[in-house]
Amino acid sequence: MSRVMIITGAGRGIGAAIARLAASRGYAVCVNYASNAAAATEVVAEIERSGGKAIAVQADVASSEACTRLFAEVDQRLGRVDVLVNNAGLVSRQCRADSITPDVIERMFAVNVFGTFYCTREAIKRMSTRHGGPGGVVIQISSAAARHGGLPEETHYAASKGAIDSMVAGLAKEVGGEGVRVVSVRPGLITTTLHEVHGGEAMIRRVAPSIPLGRPGTPEEIAETVIWLASGAASYIHGTTIDVTGGR
Ligand code: NAP
Repeated sequence: MSRVMIITGAGRGIGAAIARLAASRGYAVCVNYASNAAAATEVVAEIERSGGKAIAVQADVASSEACTRLFAEVDQRLGRVDVLVNNAGLVSRQCRADSITPDVIERMFAVNVFGTFYCTREAIKRMSTRHGGPGGVVIQISSAAARHGGLPEETHYAASKGAIDSMVAGLAKEVGGEGVRVVSVRPGLITTTLHEVHGGEAMIRRVAPSIPLGRPGTPEEIAETVIWLASGAASYIHGTTIDVTGGR
């Protein structure tokens, strides 16, 4: 039976690259998405055309109930979960901390932080030996913003990712003895549609010279790291964060 990987927010960008690479390495994958069914369906179709196995499941990870339903559907259709990649996330319009409003910060934390907790809860209930599970790996997609504070006027985004890194440190102690390995990956500036709300390609061109490697990263470069972390080759990497940032 194939190992099963759930990737939240996998219809586009980094999540889609992780789903494609995971499928090419033999995982059956669940491509979760929020609203863009066409993009998620296309990722699934691409995987199937290459001989892989994938399903698309809609769930807004900000909803605890939706996360419960997402995992129940995976139980039913794929039979198990070995790896969870909490990738779904968003940036919002730029907003200084002295102008922050509930709509901006509440939605950001609901998706980036609460969603990560809800999906992690469901994964641990299935993976942890404490619950009779066989073990597994949980990989959180954080951001270099957690370390350097983010782009201008995005302190709220940086803080949401800082919460993820703290979560990994705590969670590693809770579940490390129960067969569950937990790691976070901190991408730097990666070329995806995420940046459309705060300057898109023009912003990427402006920031790129400040990256020691002189260019933004690709979703595929993040995917390579995630697949390695999910594998037995990374069996002693736990409770820590890995920067994939081109040096920034
Ligand atoms: P993206 O291109 O905007 O894609 C985001 C994906 O997440 C989409 O598939 C979207 O679904 C999904 N999504 C958004 N909100 C969701 C929700 N509430 N529930 C379920 N799915 C949801 O973003 P990306 O650049 O690939 O970013 C992926 C992750 O990497 C995020 O956590 C982001 O913070 C992190 N990251 C990105 C960068 C970067 O430079 N790109 C840097 C550091 C960290 P729909 O397609 O249905 O809308």
